[in-house]
Amino acid sequence: MAKELWVINASETGELNREFESLTAKAQNITAGTDYQLCAVFIGTRARERSGCSMVWFDKIYCVETKEAEKQGTAGYTKTVQALYEKYKPEIMLFTTDRVSNVVSASLGIRLDAGVIAHANDLRIEDGRLICSIPTYGGQAIGDLSTKTSPQIATAKVTTAVPEDHEMPAMIKIEQFVPDEKCRLRLVKLDRTYDDSVNIENADVIVCAGFGIKSKENWRKIKTLAKRLGGEAACSRSALRIADVPEEQYLIGVSGKTVAPRAYIGFGISGSTQHTCGMKDSKLIINVNNFEENTFFDISDYGYVCDAGEVLDSLLKQTE
Ligand SMILES: Cc1cc2nc3c(=O)[nH]c(=O)nc-3n(C[C@H](O)[C@H](O)[C@H](O)COP(=O)(O)OP(=O)(O)OC[C@H]3O[C@@H](n4cnc5c(N)ncnc54)[C@H](O)[C@@H]3O)c2cc1C
Repeated sequence: MAKELWVINASETGELNREFESLTAKAQNITAGTDYQLCAVFIGTRARERSGCSMVWFDKIYCVETKEAEKQGTAGYTKTVQALYEKYKPEIMLFTTDRVSNVVSASLGIRLDAGVIAHANDLRIEDGRLICSIPTYGGQAIGDLSTKTSPQIATAKVTTAVPEDHEMPAMIKIEQFVPDEKCRLRLVKLDRTYDDSVNIENADVIVCAGFGIKSKENWRKIKTLAKRLGGEAACSRSALRIADVPEEQYLIGVSGKTVAPRAYIGFGISGSTQHTCGMKDSKLIINVNNFEENTFFDISDYGYVCDAGEVLDSLLKQTE
């Protein structure tokens, strides 16, 4: 039997987002020329719809169209993936880095007594084993990690890329899969504390705040500027504290969103690997930083050595 690498879609919204597509493209890339079959796993009430849209990317699709897993939240998804694993025994299981996937992958690791590598920003296969690149020492170095256990499980956020179309796969449909065990957890209600209208992933222009903006007042200026440019405001991890906004919506980087806008304008950002891996595919990168040797300038199209607040004031005047 061919070895299988699974890309698992357990997203809360049931959408095929850019992160899943990038992970699929990377999985296509690393399995090419190996004896791995590339498979997708879709779980939830809209599983069939999602598998239909992405059929051309995979060799095989496991489609678990069930309301049960969704009702039980992350516990339901975990049990479903575990039951699928026990039946089909894939070698490698890859997840994106959204909230549900983080919990499901970690819980699965515990249940299967397998190591889980979290937040890889690159992947490759060597001698049949999955090797994950992980930024370390505050993003100053990149380490290679692999697990010795089986299955090999990882969550990854990789560079934005578009999957290539394959020939149509053999569709394996598993109807109304209901986990055996009684679950003590049940998702009663999903109460979002944030405004769904903010969507940095689809923005054409992103004005991003770093810790160097220093004040809430400058954050307000960043939001105004973003609005005037027809875009969205976003944050580095350190700026979240200043802006006081939810990371689920505003954070760019390895543990936040992956974006590729037509223009990214950063203010007071040092450009750690954890941040840049989420925005380095932006078409035009502009950065304002008061430190001349800031390494973020190295990947910028335009760099301005200035005080963030002063440049914001000037741009707001010009866009009045
Ligand atoms: C596991 C893990 C996951 C992480 N995930 C993410 C992630 O998803 N996204 C993310 O962003 N980070 C993430 N981080 C944190 C990351 O390592 C950095 O700490 C963070 O990105 C730094 O944010 P910053 O550049 O805004 O702040 P700093 O590193 O503090 O940089 C501030 C910058 O502002 C400049 N500056 C200071 N004053 C001014 C001024 N007046 N005008 C202009 N410039 C000024 C400084 O020169 C400096 O370059 C993660 C870290 C870990 C360990």
